[in-house]
Amino acid sequence: LCSMKAMDPFIGSTPRETVKQVSDLLGCSPTSAEVASYFDQHDTLRHLREKFLVPKIADLPPSDPSLVDGSKECIYLVGNSLGLQPKMARKYLEEELDKWAKTGVHGHTEGSRPWAWAENNIEELMANVVGAKTEEVALMNGLTVNLHLLMLSFYKPTAARHRILLEDKAFPSDHYAVESQIRLRGFDPKQSMLLLSPRPGEETLRTEDILDVIEKEGDSIAVVMFSGVQYYTGQLFDMAAITEAGQRKGCYVGFDCAHAAGNAELKLHDWGVDFACWCSYKYLNSGAGGIAGAFIHKKHKDTIKPALLGWWGHDLKTRFQMDNKLHLQSGVSGFRLSNQPILLVCPLQASLEVFNMTSMQALRRKSLLLTGYLEYLIRHYYTEDPAKPHKPHIHIITPSDPRQRGCQLSLSFSVPIRKVFQELEKRGVCCDMREPSVLRIAPVPLYNTFSDVHRFVKTLGSALGSSSAGCCKF
Ligand SMILES: *Cc1c(COP(=O)(O)O)cnc(C)c1O
Repeated sequence: LCSMKAMDPFIGSTPRETVKQVSDLLGCSPTSAEVASYFDQHDTLRHLREKFLVPKIADLPPSDPSLVDGSKECIYLVGNSLGLQPKMARKYLEEELDKWAKTGVHGHTEGSRPWAWAENNIEELMANVVGAKTEEVALMNGLTVNLHLLMLSFYKPTAARHRILLEDKAFPSDHYAVESQIRLRGFDPKQSMLLLSPRPGEETLRTEDILDVIEKEGDSIAVVMFSGVQYYTGQLFDMAAITEAGQRKGCYVGFDCAHAAGNAELKLHDWGVDFACWCSYKYLNSGAGGIAGAFIHKKHKDTIKPALLGWWGHDLKTRFQMDNKLHLQSGVSGFRLSNQPILLVCPLQASLEVFNMTSMQALRRKSLLLTGYLEYLIRHYYTEDPAKPHKPHIHIITPSDPRQRGCQLSLSFSVPIRKVFQELEKRGVCCDMREPSVLRIAPVPLYNTFSDVHRFVKTLGSALGSSSAGCCKF
């Protein structure tokens, strides 16, 4: 027992070797649930799950109580789409609803969370999560709105430099935003959108190819606009290298960190990223449509100005004098337009406080093993077997290099998976399906356990077994 305690399963070798070591130590198979329990017992972040509400299987609309114990917590692997509710969210919301009920307009300036500057209180917590200085971050609006506001200031095309470089399969909202920004400036998206695709037969972009295009085409590129983590493939881009390459060619470099914030270790300030935006309802658990984030690097604080103005960009000290003489705040703070939605600030505060009980570094460390463990089990059971060509197999789209991914694995099945997905849902798995054959699985280090991963793979075996897709038993 002593030697078990002394052994830190989270450091050293690769996840595959770690699984092997632990199973040797326990004298069980590497695929045994005991390995997952061991990891959970030794997980120094396991108490953070207690800060969230995990839905019970019976409460999930598609669950089938004849197949699983409905009183158990569900297997929630879709924090990349909507994070779980932090337990403190309800308390903070009730505090503000009470304050509103009892004091009305006085709530703007009274209490622990005065509404008039409520978002300012949590921007430091937010900045820590994305590796920024507090004054480089503003919480406001929604993600696509912020992307537009930032582009209005950073995308100033000229005849010689009018292109925006982005991924060919960028998230639709980003694609439309870029397209419409180009049109707004009187340019033609056909000429001005430079869309980067993976090489034929490949599913993710190679860093060298991204850097190559920037090197070759950079002189005509005004803005390089990438995601931090690609929503579909789960690829984590080398943001430092892309930033460096783009800026060397005189481009502005911005990132949509919707799938990176709270997932990957970001250093937006140190990398010198020009601007970034992200939503807060995915890995940041603020609830659907939560207040979004925007980042502008300090180096631009006196030079990059907002194209659109509102009273919330005015210095707080004189904002309410209402003399119509603008004292614009510097940097991203000047981009604020409207007063803040306190009811959206509350749940985000609840979540960011949990993030600040640990660090992205510690979360990332757990994440490497958690996702590596998922990868290990998937490979173990579902590698293509030439001897059994009819057995369903799984190809992992997400890069196998852990430095090129966050927590999500995108699994591509050799069979259509609509039916398999339904069987998973009946058994209490929450994950994301993209027709015809991809499941996106996100074990989130903040609240998912190694046992969640083990239960998922086991349930996948039953789901495949009971759907017409295949006959494979776990
Ligand atoms: C989730 C996501 C969005 C959603 O945009 P909203 O404005 O929050 O609706 C946009 N872009 C990316 C890359 C996303 O992952």
